[in-house]
Amino acid sequence: MTPHSPGRAGVVAILGGTFDPVHAGHIHAARAARDALGTPSVALLLAARPPHRSAQASVQHRWRMLELVAEAEPTLVPSDLQVSRPGPSYTVDTLADMVGGSPLVWLIGRDALADIDSWHDVARLASLCHLLVLDRPGEGRPRPDAPRGFDLVDDAGQLAARSCASLAWLSDPMLDVSASQVRRMIARGQDASTLLTDEVWSYIRAHGLYAQKS
Ligand code: ATP
Repeated sequence: MTPHSPGRAGVVAILGGTFDPVHAGHIHAARAARDALGTPSVALLLAARPPHRSAQASVQHRWRMLELVAEAEPTLVPSDLQVSRPGPSYTVDTLADMVGGSPLVWLIGRDALADIDSWHDVARLASLCHLLVLDRPGEGRPRPDAPRGFDLVDDAGQLAARSCASLAWLSDPMLDVSASQVRRMIARGQDASTLLTDEVWSYIRAHGLYAQKS
């Protein structure tokens, strides 16, 4: 199965992230989206050189941790499309490279949706993909409006009906886990194993990752 294989719903689902490190919240979100979309796999697209921030672990370490997740759960498929591309990892450019077959569904946390206007070339986004928004815990505020160019639809199952420009919210509760929380805990010498897979936790310990504060 490749990340570009559509499911019965005929969409390709992509969770892009810095994955510094990949954690239980990402895995839970990807599984929930996979099931809601009826697609057999979700691509975990590594933002190799995120434009708005720096990653603490190297691309190689972050990639290896994604591979470890996929070895245990083959329906989550790491994608290195941005690793080989030179320069900053712009989502819109990557989606433009992927477009052409089944509709693309970009999975996005509510926190990341709130920043979407700062994305490089965001005006093109609605011509490239749908958005499926993951409602991260701890948000008391009302849901933000759909970004310019996107139409709100009632549920994920409706995304396959058009090629792009629809936005749905995923109603499944998400886990209250973030990569910054994991990094902070490890830097303080705390046990973050319950927030990670066993393999990723062992890898972080074996390589001494995140021992320094970011
Ligand atoms: P950091 O804490 O360093 O900002 P992060 O935990 O948000 O990292 P990213 O790799 O930046 O992790 O996230 C990739 C995508 O996954 C983003 O769209 C983000 O909103 C989403 N995401 C991250 N954690 C969760 C979670 N617990 N539940 C749902 N979505 C999540």
